[in-house]
Amino acid sequence: MSETELLTDVALGVTIKSRDARGRIARLGPVIDAVLANHGYPPLIEKLLAEALTLTALLGSLLKERQGQMTLQAQTQGGIVDLMVCDYLGGDLRGYVRFDRERLADASRNPALKELFGDGYLAITFDQPQANERYQGIVPIEGRNLGDAAQSYFAQSEQIPSLVRLAADKRDGHWVAGGLLLQHLPEGEEGRDRLHTRLDHPDWPHIAILGGSVKPDELTDPELPLDDLLWRLFHEEEEVRTLAALALAKGCRCDPDYVRSVLARFPADEREAMVGDDGLIKVDCAFCSSSFSIAPGELS
Ligand SMILES: [Zn+2]
Repeated sequence: MSETELLTDVALGVTIKSRDARGRIARLGPVIDAVLANHGYPPLIEKLLAEALTLTALLGSLLKERQGQMTLQAQTQGGIVDLMVCDYLGGDLRGYVRFDRERLADASRNPALKELFGDGYLAITFDQPQANERYQGIVPIEGRNLGDAAQSYFAQSEQIPSLVRLAADKRDGHWVAGGLLLQHLPEGEEGRDRLHTRLDHPDWPHIAILGGSVKPDELTDPELPLDDLLWRLFHEEEEVRTLAALALAKGCRCDPDYVRSVLARFPADEREAMVGDDGLIKVDCAFCSSSFSIAPGELS
C-alpha cells in the first residue's frame, strides 16, 4: 500500500520497541457508509456503530491469522440499545444494532453510554482457527465511549495496560471514524500468561500521554495520512516502526448457498413450519439487511 492510501479504510500497525509499546491506528470512511447504507439508522445509532466498527478494525487487526475472526458484541439490560454486533474477518467488517426507536426519540441529545446501554456488557471474542485459539473477555460498558470499555477489557481480561481512543464524525453527508490503540507489551510476552504486570512501568505512562494527546479531529481527518499522524504523536521517540497496512472493506458472509446449507440441517418438519404463504422460506441477514427467499425444494 502506498502512502497516498493511508487515509481511509485502512488499519496500520505500529511498534515503539524502546518503550515496549505496540498499537494499531485505523481510519474508516467509505466502509462505514457502505455498512450503514442498508440499515437506515438515526444519526445517533450511526455514530455508535461507526465507533464500534472502528474498534472492531483496531482489535481485528491484532489477529495474527488471516482467517482469524474478532467479534464485538454488546448486550444490555434496560438500555435503548438492545444488541450490537460487529465482526472482523480478514479486513472485512460488518455490524448492526438493535434498538428501541421510541425510546431513542426521547433520549438526550448526546446520551452517555449508560443511557444507551443500561447495564450493558461488551463481549470481545478472538477466534484463531489455525492455532485452535479462542478467547473471550466480558467487561461492563462504562466510560465516555466504547474505547473506554475496550481499555477496561485489556486491563481486566488480559492485564495489558492499554489506551484506546475512538472518534466518529459525519462530514458532508459521509461518515469518517478513526481510532488509536496502544498497548504496553514487552517483546516475547505476547500470548503467554502474565503472572505480574508492572502497571507503573515508566515507559508506559510516557507513551500513554503521547498517544492520549491525539485529537478527535485528527483521527477523523480524511486528508491526514495515518503515518503522518503517528509521526506527529511519536516523532521524539528513538524508533517508531509501522507494519504492513491492512485494507478494510465491508464484507458480509451471508450467501444463498450458506443459508441453504444451514436450512438443510433442520429437520423436515421444522423447515416446513418456516415456509411462508408464498411457499418460500424467507431468511434475513441482520448484518446487511439482505433477504433470501429459498424454495424448500432446493434443500433436498
Ligand atoms: Zn449479510
